Amino acid sequence: MKLAIASILAGSVAAFAPSPIGNQYAATSTQLHARKPFISGNWKLNPQTKDEALALAKGIASSITENSPDVDVALFVPYVFIESTMSSVDGKLSVGACQVCPQLKGAYTGAISTSMLKSIGVEWALAGHSERREIYGETDDYINAQCLKIIDEGMSVMLCIGESLAEFEQDLAGSVCAVQLKKGLKGINREDLDRVAIAYEPVWAIGTGKVATPEIAQNVHAKCRAIIADMYDQEAADAIRILYGGSVTPESVDDLMSMPDIDGALVGGASLDASKFGRIINFKSAVPV
Ligand code: PEP
Repeated sequence: MKLAIASILAGSVAAFAPSPIGNQYAATSTQLHARKPFISGNWKLNPQTKDEALALAKGIASSITENSPDVDVALFVPYVFIESTMSSVDGKLSVGACQVCPQLKGAYTGAISTSMLKSIGVEWALAGHSERREIYGETDDYINAQCLKIIDEGMSVMLCIGESLAEFEQDLAGSVCAVQLKKGLKGINREDLDRVAIAYEPVWAIGTGKVATPEIAQNVHAKCRAIIADMYDQEAADAIRILYGGSVTPESVDDLMSMPDIDGALVGGASLDASKFGRIINFKSAVPV
């Protein structure tokens, strides 16, 4: 583990090193058979104009062809671009919201509710992104309220979880994710879990260019799946999609996607480049689809 940490912190090529062909994971992988891969982009506070947003969305949509893997694709975009983005992608992908207000109406200036989003056809919303946790002080309780509201409204939620660098260095990734999962999903019923996806996003990997090695990500994903089994049951754990997020690029996606518990990617920076994100959508897996 120490070596891996050193590689990550140094931004070493080791963090990008391909997994050996025919590795233990590829041989036992069930991911592409049991769970549909899910590639998603998080545009954050980008791009700056509607024209740029539409050009980017169209470029991304055009990369989804009949030769693409059988994959769900979603873009989480700024509210003001949601409707126009939806109409520019020929139904090839979902357009979701980067966050929601847990209240439905009232004196919450600037907030956007799930009912507003649902009324324009939004299906997916993010909750718990580390930037919302850190910059806007969103707590696990608040994130749980968002998740519950999204599910109550009949929409789907991608709950983001992940440890800080200090927590990673203390080998606390699994326990931090356990707390965030238990608190974030509190009160969500077993039968609604098909409208939940998890994005494991180590904070030290987001926007840093330091992608987790496939082995590190796989290890945490497997722990998250075990936590879901503990909270619900094994069948629920086997069915839920757990995406990896944190500096995913065309160079790193294939090896990440070859891991048995990595079901997709949540992509920030590279989702702002249609050709890079297109390559990520068209990932190549060691496991035949
Ligand atoms: C993110 O914002 O969710 C993210 C993973 O960003 P990046 O891909 O730029 O690290």
